[in-house]
Parts: sequence; C-alpha cells; structure tokens
Amino acid sequence: MVKNQLERRGIRDKQILNAFRTTPRHEFVPAAYQNMAYQDRPLPIGDGQTISQPYIVALMTELINPEPDHKILEIGTGSGYQAAILSQLVKEVFTIERHLALFQKTAQRFKKLGYTNIHPLQGDGSQGLPDEAPFDAILITAAAPKIPNILLNQLKNQGKIVAPVGERTSQILMRWTKQADGSLTKEQLSAVAFVPLRGEYGWLENEWPED
Ligand code: SAM
Repeated sequence: MVKNQLERRGIRDKQILNAFRTTPRHEFVPAAYQNMAYQDRPLPIGDGQTISQPYIVALMTELINPEPDHKILEIGTGSGYQAAILSQLVKEVFTIERHLALFQKTAQRFKKLGYTNIHPLQGDGSQGLPDEAPFDAILITAAAPKIPNILLNQLKNQGKIVAPVGERTSQILMRWTKQADGSLTKEQLSAVAFVPLRGEYGWLENEWPED
C-alpha cells in the first residue's frame, strides 16, 4: 500500500509514510472487509459511512504539514484511521463523530489499540470545538457545503483547514491558510468524493438525502 499507492502518487514525507506502515488498517474496517483493508479504495464502515481511500488520507495529512507540537481537530472520526495516522505525527488529536454507534465503536478501538493522544468526542463537528481552540489545523473528512467562519475562527495564525467542499456530484479538496495578519489564502487541490457533512453548518437531509 505504502509503495504502490502512496509513494508512487507523490507522498514523500518519511514520517507520514512511516505512520502508514505502523498503523494496522485492517483493525479499522469491519471483519467482512478485512481482506480488502490495504486496497486502493474507500470501504464501508457501517451507518452508511466510509473509511477513505489510503491515498486521500495521506494527501490530507500532508496538506496540513503536521509537526510534533501540533494540536489538531478532525471533523468526521468514522473508523478512526485518519486520527490514528495523525496521532503519530502530532501532539494531540481531537476528533468528533456525529453517529453515536460509530463514535462508541471507534472510541473503543482507540482504547484497544492504545492511542492515548486521541480525544474522541460525539456531536456536531460542523461547529468545531471552541473550548479546545485554537488549533494548528482542522481536517474535515466529510463533504462540506462551505467552510463556516466559526471554524476559521478556531485556527491559529499560520493554521490550515483542509476539507472537501462541494455537492454530491462534485467536490474539490481545498486548503485555507490563516496568515499572520488574520487574512486567509485559499487553494483548490483535486477532485474528490466524500459522504456529506451534516449538522448546523453541513448539508440538510432535503438538500443531500441519506443513501
Ligand atoms: N476520517 C474517517 C476515517 O478515517 O475513517 C472517515 C470519515 S467518513 C468519510 C465521514 C464521517 O463524518 C462519517 O463518519 C460521518 O458520520 C461523519 N460526519 C458527518 N457530519 C458530521 C458532523 N457534523 N460532525 C461530526 N461527524 C460528522
């Protein structure tokens, strides 16, 4: 997976590649999909949700330029795989999942696998986590209609938000960087396909119905 899917597509950061080597992806997928855990594709994880394709997890990780002293917020815990990768590269990972059953399963998984610097929370992550802000980076791992100001306000200077933004049919992976004067730069990176971000600043059921 690391050689054929990540290095071949241009992921170069040695620490990130190493985090993928040492993270047992098969522990993050349902038993029925364990034999496909290292394939180049997203997989179902229950409740209509997915664990993202390994390359997309690596790309989003690289885009936030993780550093050992960083405090990161992930919105959309899902299986916990992205949080597990991040936890090996930064100081603390706060991760929020909206589905109660998924949250409970994944929180158990973090315990079982010994990830002590991941703080899993259940709730609407579209509002961020003001009590723990500011963050060095915020990753949204679900498709957002747009990036709410409430999240931009929870970023440190030089901090980054990486998120897929767009509709059911087309989304673009985007990165915002907060400059020292508080202004933002925006980059459009690549076409992606994610499940929807719900909640106060996410998609409504009548705009993007549940599959
Ligand atoms: N990062 C995950 C992983 O490594 O497995 C994959 C995330 S999956 C593509 C998107 C997740 O976002 C789903 O589990 C979904 O329930 C969650 N989600 C959607 N809207 C949310 C919200 N407002 N707050 C928190 N989680 C949300």
